[in-house]
Amino acid sequence: MALNAAHFDDQQPIVLVIDDSPDVHRLLRARLRHEQLELRAVTNGEEGIELARAIKPAMCLLDLDMPGMDGFQVLRTLKNDVATMDIPVIVLSAMVSAQDKVTAFDLGAVDYITKPFNLTELRVRVRSALRLHRLVQMLAQRAQIDDLTGLWNRAYFDRRWTEEVSKASRHQRPLSIAMLDVDHFKSINDTYGHPAGDAVLQGVARLIQRECRTEDVACRYGGEEFALIMPDTGPPDAHNLCERIRSSIAATIWSQHPERTVTISIGIAGHARAGEISPNAWLEHADRALYAAKRAGRNTIVTAGGEPRLAKAG
Ligand code: GH3
Ligand code: MG
Ligand code: MG
Repeated sequence: MALNAAHFDDQQPIVLVIDDSPDVHRLLRARLRHEQLELRAVTNGEEGIELARAIKPAMCLLDLDMPGMDGFQVLRTLKNDVATMDIPVIVLSAMVSAQDKVTAFDLGAVDYITKPFNLTELRVRVRSALRLHRLVQMLAQRAQIDDLTGLWNRAYFDRRWTEEVSKASRHQRPLSIAMLDVDHFKSINDTYGHPAGDAVLQGVARLIQRECRTEDVACRYGGEEFALIMPDTGPPDAHNLCERIRSSIAATIWSQHPERTVTISIGIAGHARAGEISPNAWLEHADRALYAAKRAGRNTIVTAGGEPRLAKAG
């Protein structure tokens, strides 16, 4: 299954060189040209910090001795900013005092290379810093994924939903949300056991994922409840998509209990043109629609009637 959460880009990692000497830029370019990386270089600390924030490089090679802002100040700034603190920094310097090395490590450098560079040493240290960056990225992504289903988890949903609401409000774009809840799920657990219940959750997640488009954001909201964010989608299209999900789940034969089908109820709240609405108020409308679908007999979709009440964002 292609997980919507598992998009690692295949682009080459960017290595940002911050060094006042163009000769060093040329040298590094020559020495690292056979490595799988893209080199970007600037000659002063201010520019380096700005570029690091803008392009989020996979690592930095940072000179200590520069006119104006020196390497220690740059390092301190990078490590104090949440946007750049995870970027591994290797310090480059002709200064070889033990105190400089200690200070650089204390400030958060991952490594230290003394000029003039030894070619082999430079390569292995750069490779090792890039490996570290990949690992940190992987862990950060894993922390946003639900273990059981592979969908985005609740923490990711909360952040993404707030972002999508403010984006849609700002540009007056369509946006819809669906809350999906498995019907009588407790009785599936009680009748066939917890592992069978888990298999149903995994199967439901897979079917949601299969029916939705790449822009849609499928999340496990908690327990047997899922949330589907549909950017650029008004209520009628959201309904069509949810109807495909509802019917394909209802038509599924489950290997552990072929005699028992599984259904879901869905509540939708959407806007053709989003105004100033708080993410929570919007979500409550979807939740209320979900409970209306339950009351209406389950295996049903209800779209929140009219436009959700306007409230100040926040
Ligand atoms: P309704 O149709 O009204 O939604 O009824 P329901 O039985 O689906 O809802 P209820 O909230 O009563 O029960 C949800 C159950 O989901 C209770 C809980 O034990 C179970 N559950 C929550 N998380 C998991 C999980 O990760 N795996 C399994 N197997 N069960 C879970
Ligand atoms: Mg339920
Ligand atoms: Mg529930």
